[in-house]
Amino acid sequence: MTIPMFPADSYAFTPWVDAKNLIGGQWVDAIDDHGSLEVSNPRHGAAISKVVMSGMADVDAAVKAAKVNLTDWQERPVRERAEVFYRLRELMHRDLESLTWLVSHENGKTYAEAKAEVLKAIECVEFGCSLPNLAAGTQLDVSRGVNCRIEYAPIGVVAGVTPFNFPLMVPLWMLPQAIVGGNAFILKPSEQTPLSVIALGELFREAGLPDGIFQVVQGGREAVEALCDHAGIDALAFVGSTRVAKLVYGRAATSGKRALCLGGAKNHLIVVPDADLEVAAGNIVASFTGCAGQRCMAAANLLAVGDVDHIIDEIKKRAAQITVGEDIGAINTGSSVERIHGYIQGAEQAGARVIVDGRGKGANDSGFWLGPTVIDGVTPDMVAAKEEIFGPVLSIIRVNDLSEALAIENGNPYGNASAVYTTSGDVARTVMGRAEAGMCGVNVGVPVPREPFGFGGWNDSKFGHGNITGWDGFRFWTRIRKVTTKWALQKDQNWMN
Ligand code: NAD
Repeated sequence: MTIPMFPADSYAFTPWVDAKNLIGGQWVDAIDDHGSLEVSNPRHGAAISKVVMSGMADVDAAVKAAKVNLTDWQERPVRERAEVFYRLRELMHRDLESLTWLVSHENGKTYAEAKAEVLKAIECVEFGCSLPNLAAGTQLDVSRGVNCRIEYAPIGVVAGVTPFNFPLMVPLWMLPQAIVGGNAFILKPSEQTPLSVIALGELFREAGLPDGIFQVVQGGREAVEALCDHAGIDALAFVGSTRVAKLVYGRAATSGKRALCLGGAKNHLIVVPDADLEVAAGNIVASFTGCAGQRCMAAANLLAVGDVDHIIDEIKKRAAQITVGEDIGAINTGSSVERIHGYIQGAEQAGARVIVDGRGKGANDSGFWLGPTVIDGVTPDMVAAKEEIFGPVLSIIRVNDLSEALAIENGNPYGNASAVYTTSGDVARTVMGRAEAGMCGVNVGVPVPREPFGFGGWNDSKFGHGNITGWDGFRFWTRIRKVTTKWALQKDQNWMN
């Protein structure tokens, strides 16, 4: 299958090709046919594609096809493997507009947000380009005439499973390190957003990646379980909800794989009275409304310490000014909109007040919409305060002091992101020292650690060791080989001889 077109440059409905599997360089239908699913454009609710739902036979075909060029790929020096990513970077810049629209069409984000995603994906590719300069390993003469060195060796055939909310960027959290590391990669994208990786497959081909080194198996649970169970796959990374991350981690680890599974989040932002009004209000609104709140780094609970009414008033004002459809994109599905409504209603029924109401706001009648919603007077025992809502909803929990705020934050089982808004170094240090979260921000509402730092949370937000991006990602996708050599064969040597 060749990709006949990239989408037109507007939010208008655009038909697209069916989402098939990429096996050994060919776009093919599923062998182990679990039916197909319609893919909708969340802005319009209309079907734009159909995705094949694969199973074990497809995973098996991908593993076999991966082995065809794998030895040749592994024998290439790391610099030669990285060259594919130099070219991919150029191609992604060439196709920036069409990739942006493709992400927007399948995911429902605004043009600006989709463009930011593509640019961030390019940044991940750039990290892959830098690996030849980083992956040197180390060596030491550990005894007279005896040298020990470590080198980063490929693992083999590896797999990644990704969510709907960043259909291009999250796959590229994994691919550069894994492929430059000398592995063959099988990707299972979300069945809700299977199209961006089709474009990526075409770009990899143009960039000169040998067939079988990047493959796509489309589908849902059956395909993921097959990836976990297949004995020919040696490592698996997952990004998605905590419920599934935990299942996948257990299943992949049980079948002997190296596994790293990133889960969901319930991020707490603490604001204290000395916070800068502009910085705090602007940042908090951007954090909970960006990508319609469908980010694992989005603000969920605002822990308002003491009298911060002036900041809450400003948040309320700014959130109410956001235009749905222009400043904020669509929610992924109609059932997600219903789920989010359920949380808002539940909080109201439990006594909280909706001070900015996004229900019923949308750019049209057919898409899946929800405007920014702010709920005040939420208490820690309410469901809205505890569970991941994954929509543009901010729950304000009023507290008396920092200790109370930290106790609520750390009582939540997730541990992805945490942020504090303050002009006091002492407050910042206290929160950063005590918050149970893997990614922390001071006056930063979406504290994503950019390359070369690794992305990953703590507690129920991650299962497995390490982080998914940056240098940690390279460590995850490679094995360390220790080589000890002795070429000096003199007699006067010590016990190591
Ligand atoms: P999801 O868990 O529903 O799906 C993720 C992937 O798992 C998809 O490819 C899906 O096909 C597959 N899957 C779904 N159910 C499965 C099952 N029962 N068994 C095996 N595989 C299954 O997540 P989503 O709705 O696509 O994405 C949103 C979630 O992802 C949110 O919870 C969000 O916080 C999380 N997320 C986390 C990070 C992170 O870095 N921690 C990043 C992005 C998104």
